[in-house]
Amino acid sequence: FSRHGPAGTDRQGPPRTPPTLLGCIADDFTGATDLANNLVQAGMRVVQSIGVPDEPIDGVDAVVIALKSRTSPVDQAISESLDSAKWLRAQGARRLYFKICSTFDSTPAGNIGPVAEALADWLGAAFVPVTPAFPANGRTVYQGHLFVGDTLLGESSMRHHPLTPMTESNLVQVLQAQLRDRKVGLVPHDTVCAGPEALRQCAWRLVAQGRSMGIVDTVNQSALDVLAATIASEDWPLMVAGSGLALSLPAALGCEANAHAQDLPEVGGASAIVSGSCSAATNAQVAAFIAAGGPAFAIDAMRLDASQSLVNEALAWAAPRLGQAPVLIYSTAMPETVRAVQIAMGEATAGDQVEQALSQIASGLVALGVRRLIVAGGETSGACVKALGIRTLRIGPQIDPGVPWCHAEPANLRIALKSGNFGTVDFFHKAFLTP
Ligand code: ADP
Repeated sequence: FSRHGPAGTDRQGPPRTPPTLLGCIADDFTGATDLANNLVQAGMRVVQSIGVPDEPIDGVDAVVIALKSRTSPVDQAISESLDSAKWLRAQGARRLYFKICSTFDSTPAGNIGPVAEALADWLGAAFVPVTPAFPANGRTVYQGHLFVGDTLLGESSMRHHPLTPMTESNLVQVLQAQLRDRKVGLVPHDTVCAGPEALRQCAWRLVAQGRSMGIVDTVNQSALDVLAATIASEDWPLMVAGSGLALSLPAALGCEANAHAQDLPEVGGASAIVSGSCSAATNAQVAAFIAAGGPAFAIDAMRLDASQSLVNEALAWAAPRLGQAPVLIYSTAMPETVRAVQIAMGEATAGDQVEQALSQIASGLVALGVRRLIVAGGETSGACVKALGIRTLRIGPQIDPGVPWCHAEPANLRIALKSGNFGTVDFFHKAFLTP
């Protein structure tokens, strides 16, 4: 594996874009950030793109394309994933990493199996290793069975998931049920313990038996190190994995730990927080920010209407305060308040109206000179990113697990997108102290 592309590709002419070393396709947005964050922690320079990028991305070791394909119709998931794969290959990505959820979120119809099979067929992959393991987060695979902490997947709370209930723990069976042609085998724990050569031989034995996909037992990060080393030494063009493998892969691919991988451009400007998450963690974070004397403006969802008056009020409140301490504008509320709003406005309308108002406020804040922005809430983040016209994010230093600072090029904005339940109680304070 060469960092400079396949041998013989040097041509004369103007300097070329450095080849993207690792191409990643994630089946949802927060999963993409989780993967990108782990790759950065392991020393890669990473850009995350929302959908297939419009233009080449220079100067990075990995591109992570975030799709919303986890629960979309299977044909759509396949075609978006193939489009992403084609773009990544055209950028020079030798290997593709299809990032799936660490609890293997899927149904018998997919989408993990059908997407993996379509990618494997398109790439002509003879063998595809598969593992959702993320040992640091308690996701491990043993004898093909996925554990969430000390509980088998099928006995965990995931069995009640509203969209992708997981009632079977044996991933060989779960994956096999989703595949059309390919057969699944197991690379067992003892083999992985014996090292990359044993893993390689086991994989080729499975291939000889007609099994071209293998669930790889991965009970700890050392097991993922072995898998990463095997992937690096073999010509396997595709891996299907949770974000745990991303902690092992950069070193195996020869990407030296790079202290500057997470450096982001300076942005200057004012700091603000827009919070639309109503999760327990965000409620506590908002309360802690206010208790510490942070300036805060509450959006009363009941007062939202088409007139934008509350949006304008919030921005007029913020304008004279910007550039001093970070300001917080929030609709975050306790469950009983949210319920009352939903009863009054209808659940979908309430969500849409609040998201729209908060995304207008985020745009207004940036227009007023905010250059460091935290958005709390998954859906709220999606709405704000769209309103701000952000297509790509350069991933920077981690504030808390799963939440890095990012840099968005066009607006020269440093932005952190926090899923509802992420972050410690002092997250907002801590974030602005993270360099
Ligand atoms: P989380 O990551 O915590 O799930 P999201 O942003 O994904 O946060 O979801 C929160 C949803 O609740 C959004 O649709 C948001 O618009 C809506 N919402 C926020 N504040 C209120 C409120 N005060 N009343 C009703 N709905 C709200």
